[in-house]
Amino acid sequence: MPIEAAQSRPVFANINPATGELLGEYPSATPGEVRHAVERAHFAQPSWSALPLHRRVEALRRFQQLLVERKQQVAETISAEAGKPAVEALTSEILVVLDAVKFCAANAARVLREENVPHANPALKTKRGRLLWEPVGVVGIISPWNYPFSIPATDSLAALVLGNAVVLKPSELTPNSTLLLRDLLYDAGVPRDVFQVVLGEGPTGAALLESGIDKLIFTGSVATGRRVAVAAAQRLIPVVLELGGKDPMIVLEDANVDVASSGAVWGSLMNCGQTCISVERCYVHRSLFDRFVSECARKMQTLRVAVRDGDIGPLISQRQLEIVAGQVADAVASGATVVCGGCRLPELGPNFYAPTLLTGVTPQMRIMREETFGPVLPVIPFSTDDEAVALANDSEFGLAASVWSRSRHHGESIARRIRAGCVMVNDAVTGFGISEAPHGGFKSSGIGRTHGVLGMREMLQPRYVDVDMLPHWKQLWWYGYGGAFASQMGGFVDFLFSRKLSTRLAGGLRSAGSLFRRRL
Ligand code: NAD
Repeated sequence: MPIEAAQSRPVFANINPATGELLGEYPSATPGEVRHAVERAHFAQPSWSALPLHRRVEALRRFQQLLVERKQQVAETISAEAGKPAVEALTSEILVVLDAVKFCAANAARVLREENVPHANPALKTKRGRLLWEPVGVVGIISPWNYPFSIPATDSLAALVLGNAVVLKPSELTPNSTLLLRDLLYDAGVPRDVFQVVLGEGPTGAALLESGIDKLIFTGSVATGRRVAVAAAQRLIPVVLELGGKDPMIVLEDANVDVASSGAVWGSLMNCGQTCISVERCYVHRSLFDRFVSECARKMQTLRVAVRDGDIGPLISQRQLEIVAGQVADAVASGATVVCGGCRLPELGPNFYAPTLLTGVTPQMRIMREETFGPVLPVIPFSTDDEAVALANDSEFGLAASVWSRSRHHGESIARRIRAGCVMVNDAVTGFGISEAPHGGFKSSGIGRTHGVLGMREMLQPRYVDVDMLPHWKQLWWYGYGGAFASQMGGFVDFLFSRKLSTRLAGGLRSAGSLFRRRL
């Protein structure tokens, strides 16, 4: 490493958000080190991709087994640095990754399969087209702190099984979970240069974009996503952006209040509300409103907010807590009512905030427009389905949404009108854990998809190969331009596309003479 790089290298601290304990200090990778990692990945990728698919699938399956064996260690590591209960790390991260391995292993052959591309045009009938799906090469992945294991793991597994190399920059707030992911992959047999982790803050992520990667999968905030998109545009690097959300929940007139209120409480509070697809706005039919609010309040008050192994942990940082507290204060100042919560819990630690239920909110308030990313459920009544759909769609975001109804038909008919990448009926948040489901947003919530077959396709690029089966023949359209040629081609166009039978027949005769003529 160059001496000047070592001297100017920033160091960042990894802190337990519940206790404030220092978990580790890490030097940020310098731009030179990031570039070197990408170069090594480029060198290693062709032989990884040349392996028979079953060898890469075997590595994934070994990873799966190792993860099952080390699940407790992984859950505790995630819990310590992200603040979520260990059991939630198990259900919403480790289980999701184990299922993703199964999905990737089962579908890799399908998405890599060559496809025939038949030609309908009679003039092109001598050609045979094939569509090949090839790994993009070196995939850069930049990930956030809120799902520090499952987000980088699901993206990496899809990239790796399809023959890509990966250089991953995790969030500076949660490096340990990703380092465990790296160790598990190495122990499973993934070569060291094929999967690399570069640690660091924003500038390390920016350096990854400048280091020769072939594609970037970015997950994070809208603000950073915009910066990343600009940098990627300058280098013409294709990018998938998984950004923020403000997910609406619609409780229709025919919903089961007990089920919907439990769904709202879990969907808004799990991971302390710090899920991109958390329930962030709730619209409830006026006839159910009072009962729904009192059920939500009762259920919220039974939850245990705790430093360790409760139902709800801390927010990730003081900064995040200030955003949440600021939005709640703004809503209250504008007339909202705090039904429960609405306060910090300093007796537990500086990053704790009570589960909060708000009524009296209006669609214009910041709490209904900006991503909150905290344990807050604002509820608004509506009178008609059309009004609920309009309220739900009135947002710059469009990541996910949920609709609640006893009638599958009613629920689905409303779901189809919501402008979001994933709309669930009678569940929320779970979409991220459905390996088959594509994950991604409309509007400011992002571009492209991860997960599912569409997510796997993002890790590939299509190459179209076309072979003419008559190598001794010249093509009819290769020069020889002139009046006769124009007339023959005009006839050919008539023959193919004219709706009048007589014109078609005449066109066919006019062009027939040229079909076998050799040109230039
Ligand atoms: P963030 O945007 O602050 O950071 C995300 C990552 O980008 C981090 O690794 C960070 O170091 C890196 N980064 C920062 N500046 C950069 C730059 N200039 N160039 C390249 N990389 C840079 O987001 P966060 O606070 O870590 O995560 C929370 C946000 O992520 C929320 O908005 C949440 O909704 C969103 N999120 C979205 C999804 C999704 O799938 N759509 C999933 C999880 C989180």
